[in-house]
Amino acid sequence: MRILITGAAGFLGSNLCDRLIAEDHEVIGMDNFITGSPDNLAHLAGNENFSFIRHDVSNFIFVPGKIDAVMHFASPASPNPNSPFGYLNLPIQTLKAGALGTHNSLGVARAQNTRFILASTSEIYGDPLEHPQTEDYWGHVNPIGPRSVYDEAKRFAEALTMAYHRFHDVDTRVVRIFNTYGPRMHLDDGRVVPNFLQQALQNQPLTVYGDGSQTRSFCYVDDLIEGIYRLLLSDEHQPVNIGNPVETTILEFAETINAITGNTAGIVYKEDARGEGDPQQRQPDITRAKEILGWEPKISVEEGLKRTIPYFKAKMGLA
Ligand code: NAD
Ligand code: UDP
Repeated sequence: MRILITGAAGFLGSNLCDRLIAEDHEVIGMDNFITGSPDNLAHLAGNENFSFIRHDVSNFIFVPGKIDAVMHFASPASPNPNSPFGYLNLPIQTLKAGALGTHNSLGVARAQNTRFILASTSEIYGDPLEHPQTEDYWGHVNPIGPRSVYDEAKRFAEALTMAYHRFHDVDTRVVRIFNTYGPRMHLDDGRVVPNFLQQALQNQPLTVYGDGSQTRSFCYVDDLIEGIYRLLLSDEHQPVNIGNPVETTILEFAETINAITGNTAGIVYKEDARGEGDPQQRQPDITRAKEILGWEPKISVEEGLKRTIPYFKAKMGLA
C-alpha cells in the first residue's frame, strides 16, 4: 500500500512509519513539527519508500499520486500544563487538528477511495465512571474544562469519521489509544514516563502528582503499533481499544521505575500538581481487540522500560 500518515514526525507516527516500511509499504509522512521533530524521521532520509510533506493538516491536504490508506495521527497529545508541547498550551491548534485536520484527512480518503484510520484516545472516556472502559462506554467528559480542547476534538473526530463511513461509505477505522510509551517520546512534553525516567536517570526523586493513587495502564509502543497495524488490515468500523490492561497506580509505577533504574532518591509528592480533570482511573477492556484482531500486548512494563531507557540516556547525553 501507499499510505499517508499525518503526525509522522511524532512519537507514534514515526514508529508507525518504521513498521509500515518494514512491511514493504510506501509511506508519505506529513507533519508541521508543532510537537514532533524531524529527528524522529532523520533515519528515513534517502529511503525510497519514504517521502515527507511539511504541512498543517488544518489546511486543505493535497497528496500527489494515488494512495491506498490515510492514517490520521496529527494532534498534540500531552496533558501537562507546564509543557510548551502540551495541548493545554496549544488549545486552538489541538481543536483544529482534531476537527479540521480530521475533516481534511477524511476528505483525502473519500476523494481517493482509500481506507482511513483515526488515532483516537482513551481521553474520549474522560474521567470514567465505568471501569475498565469498554468501547460501549460513552464517557464522562467536561465539555468546557481545560482538557476539553483535546477530549472534545477527538470526540468530534470520531463522530465525523463515523459520519463519513455511514453517509459517504468511506472505509474507516477508529483506534482508541491508551497510555503508550517508548523510544521517540518527547523528553519535555511533561508526560509521566519522560518525567519519571529523566528524574530517575539523574538520581532525582520522582515527582508523584497528588497522592499517586490515580491509575494508568501503560502499553509499550511496539505492542500498540502491532494492534494498529492489525486494525488497519481488518474490516472493523467500530472503535477498538488498543492498550495494555495491566493497571498500576502512579505511585507503584514510580516505585517500579526507581527499582529498574536503581534510583535511590525516592519519591516527592506534588500534592497540587494534578491538573483539573486528571482521570482517577484508566484501564482498557481489550476484549474486542482480542476477538476481532487476535491481538493482546506481549511486552511487560519492566521489559518495555528496559527497551526505552537507552533512548532516554542517548537523548540526555548519558549513553
Ligand atoms: P506527538 O506530539 O509525539 O505526535 C503528534 C504529531 O502530530 C507531532 O509530530 C506534531 O508535530 C504533529 N501535528 C500536530 N498538529 C499538527 C497539524 N495541525 N498538522 C500537521 N502535523 C501536526 O504525540 P503522539 O503521542 O505521537 O500522539 C500521536 C497521536 O496518537 C495523536 O493523535 C494522539 O492524540 C494519539 N494518542 C497518543 C497517545 C499516547 O499515549 N502517546 C494516547 C492516546 C492517543
Ligand atoms: N504524573 C505524575 N508525575 C509527573 C507527571 C505526571 O504523577 O511528573 C501523573 C499525572 O498527574 C497523571 C498520570 O501521571 O495522573 C499520567 O499523566 P500523563 O501526563 O502521562 O498522561 P494522562 O494519562 O494524564 O493523559
